[in-house]
Amino acid sequence: MPNICDYEGSRYREEFWTPERRFEDLADRAALRALLPPSGETLIEVGAGFGRLADLYQGYQHVILFDYALSLLREAREQWGGDPRFLFVAGDLYHLPLASATVETTVMVRVLHHLEDVPAALAQLARITRAQGTLVLEHANKRHLKAVLRYLLRRQDWSPFTPEPHPFVPLNYDFHPDWVREQLQLAGFHVEDVRAVSHFRIPWLKRHISPELLARLDALLQRPAARFQLSPSLFLRARRLPNNTPPQPLAFRCPTCGHEPLPIIPQDITCPSCGAVWPYREGIHIFRT
Ligand SMILES: [Zn+2]
Repeated sequence: MPNICDYEGSRYREEFWTPERRFEDLADRAALRALLPPSGETLIEVGAGFGRLADLYQGYQHVILFDYALSLLREAREQWGGDPRFLFVAGDLYHLPLASATVETTVMVRVLHHLEDVPAALAQLARITRAQGTLVLEHANKRHLKAVLRYLLRRQDWSPFTPEPHPFVPLNYDFHPDWVREQLQLAGFHVEDVRAVSHFRIPWLKRHISPELLARLDALLQRPAARFQLSPSLFLRARRLPNNTPPQPLAFRCPTCGHEPLPIIPQDITCPSCGAVWPYREGIHIFRT
């Protein structure tokens, strides 16, 4: 099984999403707002963390915030637990505990760069997403401008132009846009639209220009610059291709044996097929194996 990048106990909100990253946060939001269908029945965010982007999902009847780290989901629940539309689910994305063809819109932002096995993860996203449903996917871009310049100036030994993922530290990868597009196609998605995001991730600019203004400029660039794909981050909107699985009502799936559907009830859930018991604690469904 692939290794998992676990944020359990990390102070992700305090230590990563500091005021210095306000520009990145606003730029992510602009791209997501542009690509996300604004309303619908069911949305899941895979790797939702503490629910940083959850306020953008207000148009959905059911919102599933999914993450591996229980500590982050507890933070998400503190903020969104009072809203009956929200479900908080812990598990690993290689064994997504959602039944097949149950989700209309799937979102995954700032997660792909931690994945050892991208095809296996995308296969899971394809399984839970209904035919004609939407996937909004963000990935770190290997071919960003800084890497291209460094390579051309011979300050960097790896090529930003070759398709294979570039591991820059353990469990962190940058991806070539063509490679990601190909993996999405193999998984059963068709890429419809792209946004190039976070062009101004440059310390000097961020010190001298307000994050709000930088993010507005970035938002203006995101669509026209998508054809060059030189930004550090790319957002894609992909359509799940038609297939033989009709849409199913929202339900869980046993990550151990694959039995589905399991009912979504606010208590421990026992799998009738393998007997595994999946706990419900502090408002969080826990499917960690
Ligand atoms: Zn089972």
